[in-house]
Amino acid sequence: MTRQTPATLTMLQELIASPSVSSTAEVLDQSNLEVINRLHGWLSDLGFECEVMMLPGEEGRKANLIATLGQGPGGLVLSGHTDTVPCNPELWQSDPFTLTERDNRFYGLGTCDMKGFFALAIEAARSFDATQFKQPLIILATADEESSMSGARALVEAGRPLARAAVIGEPTSLRPIRMHKGIMMEAVRIEGRSGHSSDPALGHNALDAMHGVLSELIGLRKELAQQYHNSDFSVSIPTLNLGCIHGGDNPNRICGRCELEFDLRPLPGMSLDGLRNMISERLHPLGAKYGVELKSYPLFLGVPPFETAKDSELVQMVEKLTGHSAQAVAFATEAPFLQALGMDTIVMGPGSIEQAHQPDEFLALDQIQPTIELLKTLIGRYCL
Ligand SMILES: [Zn+2]
Repeated sequence: MTRQTPATLTMLQELIASPSVSSTAEVLDQSNLEVINRLHGWLSDLGFECEVMMLPGEEGRKANLIATLGQGPGGLVLSGHTDTVPCNPELWQSDPFTLTERDNRFYGLGTCDMKGFFALAIEAARSFDATQFKQPLIILATADEESSMSGARALVEAGRPLARAAVIGEPTSLRPIRMHKGIMMEAVRIEGRSGHSSDPALGHNALDAMHGVLSELIGLRKELAQQYHNSDFSVSIPTLNLGCIHGGDNPNRICGRCELEFDLRPLPGMSLDGLRNMISERLHPLGAKYGVELKSYPLFLGVPPFETAKDSELVQMVEKLTGHSAQAVAFATEAPFLQALGMDTIVMGPGSIEQAHQPDEFLALDQIQPTIELLKTLIGRYCL
């Protein structure tokens, strides 16, 4: 006997009331297990086979959930991340962890980005019976999308889940997205030697060497912009932003040490490793030229760019169903990781990215029923 799962509203309330902030700042970072356990309970009651995948090194704190209804080859993955960004409760009009309805909106941290999606996916799933399915429906819940994407990386490592198609319910106002840029955040550290400024021969100036680094990176930026272009993006070229620099201490000392951090947003078709090689090849000769030790390294593993072909089955299907042609967005998602598992992948979910990552995040009530209907149609197409 399967038990009744709670109403959509109750699920939304409980998901929002289960804090699951992920952050690269250790003091802010929280476990996502409360959300995973709730989803596990509801999905098991609906007859889903549930597997909790603890993240390596984070056992008992962070996990993915792979919940599968039905069997067979192919099938559909409905995917979301269980974590949220940190928030500033003092800037909110209502408690971010209490689902609050006003002005035809549900307010709360994670309503649109994106715990709310799980309640709607479960609502869509419960109108089906596993015995009807020829191909499985998989509800996938990941950890740490907002910080390291380590949940998605663990899935790629494990080679699971596998299905024919995957829809990631990030807030896109229900418009299909088939492309985004990647993200790299990199650093360059230069160790020179300090000395009295009156005689340059007394040291090796790290700031002089950094000037060489900056020229190389600006040169690389120009070359990449000439070489790569994709007019589907509002910023149609790959970008390289010089973000911060720290070095030296006093005008009358030769600068002994200097560090630079920059980000690079590659277009689909560009590889993160290829870019890293290109950067280190260009910067390497500067060490000898300036007599300094120079090292370039990633600040995090990076997110690859993502593109699903315009003529893919899933893209064609959702374009017809929504009446919107698939677009590109400026934010990064777990899509390249699910795609790496071999699934036809798009990003499409309720709520707007404009409300994400800020005080008074909300999900408009008029997004809810269309989302449930759209997901039901997709489940029907892929699983029946
Ligand atoms: Zn998100």
